[in-house]
Amino acid sequence: MTQLSMPLNFIGTLYREISQGLADMEAMFKVLDVPAEVVDRPGAPALDVKAGVIRFEDVHFSYDPDRAILRGISFEVPAGRTIAIVGPSGAGKSTISRLLFRFYDVGAGRITIDGQDIRDVTQASLRQRIGMVPQDTVLFNDTIAYNIRYGRPSASEAEVREAARMAQISDFIERLPKGFDTEVGERGLKLSGGEKQRVAIARTILKAPPILMLDEATSALDTHTEREIQTALDQVSLNRTTLVIAHRLSTVVNADEIIVLEHGVIVERGRHQDLLDHGGLYASMWERQRAVDEARERLRVTEEQD
Ligand code: ATP
Repeated sequence: MTQLSMPLNFIGTLYREISQGLADMEAMFKVLDVPAEVVDRPGAPALDVKAGVIRFEDVHFSYDPDRAILRGISFEVPAGRTIAIVGPSGAGKSTISRLLFRFYDVGAGRITIDGQDIRDVTQASLRQRIGMVPQDTVLFNDTIAYNIRYGRPSASEAEVREAARMAQISDFIERLPKGFDTEVGERGLKLSGGEKQRVAIARTILKAPPILMLDEATSALDTHTEREIQTALDQVSLNRTTLVIAHRLSTVVNADEIIVLEHGVIVERGRHQDLLDHGGLYASMWERQRAVDEARERLRVTEEQD
């Protein structure tokens, strides 16, 4: 069946989902973002991932010639470590994830994985080795089990259940009358953003890629869901080279390095506590977010009391 022969890459996934009429506007725009001019070099080999070190070396990029989006970005994600990118809206965070996936080629500089320039290897092999947990996961019109197993079609039922458990979604699934056989999607059960993201995490756990890219949901989640997702993400990123595009600062506290991006340049970098002590942009973003979270929590408590 075509289902089994589909390459497990992000674009393939999105096209299929769109053809099923399930994609929302945002996913559609992401697909439209993919330019046709990114092509494999003739005879390009497959990416060979050993340790899984990602390097951005003086990367410049613009979507339109007259507006620079990234201006000399350099950082390394050491093998098995987690680096988080934070910054105000429009700073260029998601652009970094699009470049790593090679939806676009860099304007100048280069991106390497284990020393191989990503422009020199096939796109299929690149996307195969990177597990992507996108902001908005779109699901197939099929069962929950199918949606999780998509990460590795040969996975056994026990492996699907174990992945769901690690992704903190199995309690939810087991409470449904049809459990893992529950149909989801357009004609089935509608899942919340947080539930969909955990299905995507379970799928990625099964795929077991050496490199992970997490593009966090921007939508506000309640504290409990946020904590569950954090636990799921901690599981999936354990010992994997992980790049997190973070919109909520609570998820970056334990990152090995936090990169603060503003107007396409790195303005601060370091660990959480160092950045707080520094008292710059990160510290003020953290303060603002804490105020918002506290206000939200107060509102929730008041609503519960009413
Ligand atoms: P947010 O936190 O709001 O998601 P971000 O830091 O991830 O923001 P990017 O999505 O990387 O920001 O966008 C950086 C800049 O590039 C923005 O000013 C945006 O308008 C612009 N941009 C993004 N995609 C395109 C595109 N396809 N064509 C032209 N400009 C784009």
